[in-house]
Amino acid sequence: MEAIKQAPLKIIFILSLSMALALNACGQSKNDNQMALNMETVSKPKNPYYSHTDTTKLHLTDAEWKKILPEDLYEVSRHAATERPFTGKYWNADIKGTYYCAACGNELFRSEAKFASTCGWPSFFEQENKNSTVFRQDSSLGMIRTEVLCARCGGHLGHIFDDGPPPTGKRYCMNSIAMDFVPDTP
Ligand code: FE
Repeated sequence: MEAIKQAPLKIIFILSLSMALALNACGQSKNDNQMALNMETVSKPKNPYYSHTDTTKLHLTDAEWKKILPEDLYEVSRHAATERPFTGKYWNADIKGTYYCAACGNELFRSEAKFASTCGWPSFFEQENKNSTVFRQDSSLGMIRTEVLCARCGGHLGHIFDDGPPPTGKRYCMNSIAMDFVPDTP
């Protein structure tokens, strides 16, 4: 009888323990991710056009981009591929720093404009300056959306929607693969 009475308690205890372990695992991986981002550096030995200061517009052919970009970045930047949600490096990152175009180095967003979105992609409510991104209508996949492109290299970054937070109400929904992050120096 005692054993029967205790059974639900045991189940609750095991469930609580499992939840605590799961939450701890999530926290752990987020912390590990943040630590990795804090130490992130950018190195593009194959890409002579990459610069955080040169704002000259780039007009490369598809073949030239293919030669200098890693395959995953080439597919997103030049062929508008989309990374799977909740898989990118930056969707849940919240440390201070600057996001740049991974294809050309153009400054795109500051971390202060990033917000916690539930969509699984890094989301921002405003671009860093008027030279950061440009927009284009995208009617692929049977939807009318507004595509966000890098203003320097014309590379695909993601899409923009009108369901973002104040003050702009915009949500720049970006691919982590299309961006580099440089943490602020303390
Ligand atoms: Fe770019």
